[in-house]
Amino acid sequence: LWNYLRDKFQTDLTPVGFNAWIKTAKPLAFRANELVIEVPSVLHKEYWENNLATKVVEGAYEFAEIELTPIFVLPGESDNLAADQSLTSRPLTKAETPTFLRETHLNSKYTFDTFVTGKGNQMAHAAALVVSEEPGVLYNPLFLYGGVGLGKTHLMQAIGHQLLESKPDTNVKYVTSEAFANDFINSIQTKNQEKFRQEYRNVDLLLVDDIQFFADKEGTQEEFFHTFNDLYNDKKQIVLTSDRLPNEIPKLQERLVSRFKWGLSVDITPPDLETRIAILRNKADAEHLEIPEDTLSYIAGQIDSNVRELEGALVRVQAYATMQNAEITTGLAADALKGLKLNGKSSQLSIAKIQSVVAKYYSLTIADLKGRKRVKEIVLPRQIAMYLAREMTDSSLPKIGQEFGGKDHTTVMHAHERISQGMAIDQNLKEAILDLKNTLTG
Ligand code: ADP
Ligand code: MG
Repeated sequence: LWNYLRDKFQTDLTPVGFNAWIKTAKPLAFRANELVIEVPSVLHKEYWENNLATKVVEGAYEFAEIELTPIFVLPGESDNLAADQSLTSRPLTKAETPTFLRETHLNSKYTFDTFVTGKGNQMAHAAALVVSEEPGVLYNPLFLYGGVGLGKTHLMQAIGHQLLESKPDTNVKYVTSEAFANDFINSIQTKNQEKFRQEYRNVDLLLVDDIQFFADKEGTQEEFFHTFNDLYNDKKQIVLTSDRLPNEIPKLQERLVSRFKWGLSVDITPPDLETRIAILRNKADAEHLEIPEDTLSYIAGQIDSNVRELEGALVRVQAYATMQNAEITTGLAADALKGLKLNGKSSQLSIAKIQSVVAKYYSLTIADLKGRKRVKEIVLPRQIAMYLAREMTDSSLPKIGQEFGGKDHTTVMHAHERISQGMAIDQNLKEAILDLKNTLTG
């Protein structure tokens, strides 16, 4: 696990940062759900707690789906730890993983308590609350839809948490549509379909996230159709999310579309300024950050696209303040966010422009680039366009994903990696990129 985290930090941090923070840290013990990490000074401890702890939590989850609490200690503070709690670098076995986590896959941060309501999400919030109180009764399925980073996953998981709190015996299962598809395909390959069915049809609440990725997956849709029917007939609650309405999802079978409309569909729209300020305030309080009100307003005014970016901006400001060893003020926030501001280079060069230039260069259409066709002639140009969008604009990964037909930010990340690595070994690719860059800047 530690090696995995180290690698993650190595790519995330600058070499200077990596040397300062990661190299000096020492994993001491790994017990139950806690990872004890020794750091050399109070300053290090603060920095880890404020800036790196969430990455450890995320990393542990990616690595083995464990919900980990990192604990930072100074040298000497750790003497009372038993000697046999040595750190292992293997993932937890199934038996070691806490049951609730293995079965539900819920992120403990995504509760109703931490969800701020406002105009754009209050309908969705209300519907989610009702469903968590009386699952399977009123709105089945509940279908939440809206753009990236607006809180769909958060709200959906909050239903799971709430239900588990009021009825701890309930069987809750959260999956992304991709995980559902993978589980299904694996079950066929390993001839374990019976087990798959048991797992998915024995739940009281099934949460399937980002259902738009069912497009193009015929077999999976077929299986999900049966899962849906079974659960629905048993009055079990189903909650689905998507970036768009069921009938707007390409290649989604008509019978699924019609079933998804049986219950209630609610959209989530971007938060207004007031809500954005409230979200920031909440976040700042949760992390015990001292931030003046006008600074919060300032940040909220700068980022109006989505909540994930809003959170990112706050983290950025916070990191900047730590680096400068200064208090957070509006002036400091402005400095910290300079690189993010939309009137920077991105206003000169839009993602749309990049798409049109790349499409023309490869004799494709923009729709090809935004689409999901996996033929080689399209995949490479699509990845190139994503790469250029990442390199030449200030757009965030989710934003780029959105502009490419609503793809996940990990897809963009992957594309960027592929092209960067490809350029190192492939002279043709390198020249093509140079050509394109010249066209775009010329
Ligand atoms: P989506 O699934 O719609 O892409 P997420 O649920 O992943 O969006 O939300 C992105 C981030 O923003 C998460 O960290 C989430 O906790 C936070 N977030 C979104 N909406 C709210 C809200 N109304 N209140 C507090 N946090 C929110
Ligand atoms: Mg989501």
